[in-house]
Amino acid sequence: MVDRYWVAFLLVLAWVVGVLDASAGDADPHYRSCLKQCEETGCVGQRCFLQCKFASNGVSTDRPWYMQEPLYLQWKHWDCQGDCRYYCMLEREKERESLNKGPVKYHGKWPFVRVYGIQESASVAFSALNLAVHFHGWLSFFILLYYKLPLKDDKKAYYEYATLWHIYGLLSMNSWFWSAVFHSRDVDLTEKLDYSSAVALLGYSLILAILRSFNIRDEATRVMVTAPLLAFVTTHILYLNFYKLDYGWNMKVCVVIAVAQLLIWAIWAGVSLHPSRWKLWFVVVGGGLAMLLEIYDFPPYQGLLDAHAVWHATTIPLTYLWWSFIRDDAEYRTSDLLKKAK
Ligand SMILES: [Zn+2]
Repeated sequence: MVDRYWVAFLLVLAWVVGVLDASAGDADPHYRSCLKQCEETGCVGQRCFLQCKFASNGVSTDRPWYMQEPLYLQWKHWDCQGDCRYYCMLEREKERESLNKGPVKYHGKWPFVRVYGIQESASVAFSALNLAVHFHGWLSFFILLYYKLPLKDDKKAYYEYATLWHIYGLLSMNSWFWSAVFHSRDVDLTEKLDYSSAVALLGYSLILAILRSFNIRDEATRVMVTAPLLAFVTTHILYLNFYKLDYGWNMKVCVVIAVAQLLIWAIWAGVSLHPSRWKLWFVVVGGGLAMLLEIYDFPPYQGLLDAHAVWHATTIPLTYLWWSFIRDDAEYRTSDLLKKAK
């Protein structure tokens, strides 16, 4: 029954991933001519940008960033492009509104109103909160392991998955940090950093899901399970960064990895007699439902709060519960091991 539900879920997801297409906004000829003019003259209407004086010097943007002019010049160029896109978009959206037309996406993003120069302020705030909750979760896990639970004679924790969860905590905090940066200002470099760290976290979480749910404690087996997945994730990150940032393909990879680990945790929660399995259930169901927000992708309310931001908001309580499960697991495994040792 559960399996059938997941197959249906996967099919719907696959369909939706296929439907997600290029943005209507930046295909619009009015927008395009505005952008072209802006990058040449540095002005949109009455508003002019100093940093665009540079872009007209014939700077090639085809080469990868590390082969180009110093990063600050590159940044200037990104800044010019960002401002041109932003003000052309505002201009275009104003026109659309006067024609009673709803908002459309530009370069894959809804038209957001900048707050203190921050493009997607709600997503930035929620990313920062996610980071904070991960830090709190990881810190309390650390304190539980090394200050509250009994330690082995060599001062190491009994819990066999301690190191794996520490790495998980670091990768999560890294990922939310870059998410906050990327949502503040969307340029080539911040986008790649955000995508790369998100893929790294997602791939690592799958490895962790397999190792924990199959109770793999033996070093050699761990390496055998981890190596192919790690190789795939690394190749995928290199592909995104140095070959092609293919959004469609990346979305498919991420959905498959995400659904796979949700399935693994769900099945494990169903068959294991873990005392805190209800927390797992809650996170899996909540995480699955939250993913629907990415699919039901509504435009920003008041130019601020869109589906993606709400999605980032929902992961905050889920993350809190998730670390609480991890702490329970550490306690449960430790008491189990101590019972066996006696
Ligand atoms: Zn995001």
